[in-house]
Amino acid sequence: MRVTAAVLRDPKGAFMIEEIDLDDPGPGEIAVRIAGVGLCHTDLLPRVTPGMPLPIVCGHEGSGVVAAIGPGVTEVAVGDHVVMSFDSCGTCRSCVAERPAYCTTFFPRNLGGRRLDGTTSAKDAAGVDISSRWFGQSSFADHAVVEARNVVKVDAGLPLELLGPLGCGFQTGAGAVLNSLDVQPGSSIVVFGAGAVGLAAIMAARIAGADTIVAVDLNPERLESATKYGATQLVHGANDDVPRQLRRATKGADYTFDTTGVPAVIATAIDALNPLGVCGLVGAQRGDLAINPMQLAVGRTIKGIVEGDAVPRRFIPRLLEHWRRGEFPFDELIRTFPLTEINEAEHAVHHGSVIKPVLIP
Ligand SMILES: [Zn+2]
Ligand SMILES: [Zn+2]
Repeated sequence: MRVTAAVLRDPKGAFMIEEIDLDDPGPGEIAVRIAGVGLCHTDLLPRVTPGMPLPIVCGHEGSGVVAAIGPGVTEVAVGDHVVMSFDSCGTCRSCVAERPAYCTTFFPRNLGGRRLDGTTSAKDAAGVDISSRWFGQSSFADHAVVEARNVVKVDAGLPLELLGPLGCGFQTGAGAVLNSLDVQPGSSIVVFGAGAVGLAAIMAARIAGADTIVAVDLNPERLESATKYGATQLVHGANDDVPRQLRRATKGADYTFDTTGVPAVIATAIDALNPLGVCGLVGAQRGDLAINPMQLAVGRTIKGIVEGDAVPRRFIPRLLEHWRRGEFPFDELIRTFPLTEINEAEHAVHHGSVIKPVLIP
């Protein structure tokens, strides 16, 4: 199958729009015609992580219509509307315990650029292998070949082209609050970073009934928008008295949630906790974390979280139900770009002018 895709060849270069060849779906796989695909910070990891196999087609927040099914696929049929999420094996201890985000083969499956047998489903026009299977999907393209296990079927009446980010960014933020941290009614939470993941967390904290929801960010416009989605207090992250402001706002938070990956911010997030408080971490953390163990001795917990602890087939329908009720307006965070403008979309994310770009092939 000849498809159009955005290929990253050089870590410092632009995405190139190319015609590439994609295999037909094999056993357990399906082909999806992409309706829309979110751009997430994780898609930019090959720019900064040595050893990522280039050239690569990234993209892991895709939604679309099933175009073909491979042998043995029973869970979806051609024409079904689907949201694609991350890949997992289904049989390891974590998967059997319904914690697929902690699948023992999560990293090679989702970030390795190859099937586990070392093959890829994509070749460029010259016949050279291109890394694919990014989060099991590689959806910066008009079609993707995906494990059937990764997809979540959704109602045909929904705005399909906007649903892809439910499969990663929005699921990560909302799931961290509703599943991993299990935020309780009347509690307090501080969310560091008011991007797509942070704002989804803030919406979810409101759904969970948290009383005090503090947003911390460097960008005043993003902070302002956090109010609209449930933040009760705002703290500008560049102020030197952030810890004091957080104390004042929460008297010690029950939960803190870091979406920045910056060690100094994580240290602040741990220090802002109550005794028995829990600090959740998501994203790609950069650098070492220096903490005095006494900061934990009072019963605090630091919790690493992948994909909001979600079982996508249960959690994405739940998020859509909250959206229908007006409680989870994720669509307001999205701006669409044609896939051919992926470089402009990346630029807009870096500058903070767009919270969640969705690329339309
Ligand atoms: Zn597994
Ligand atoms: Zn992501």
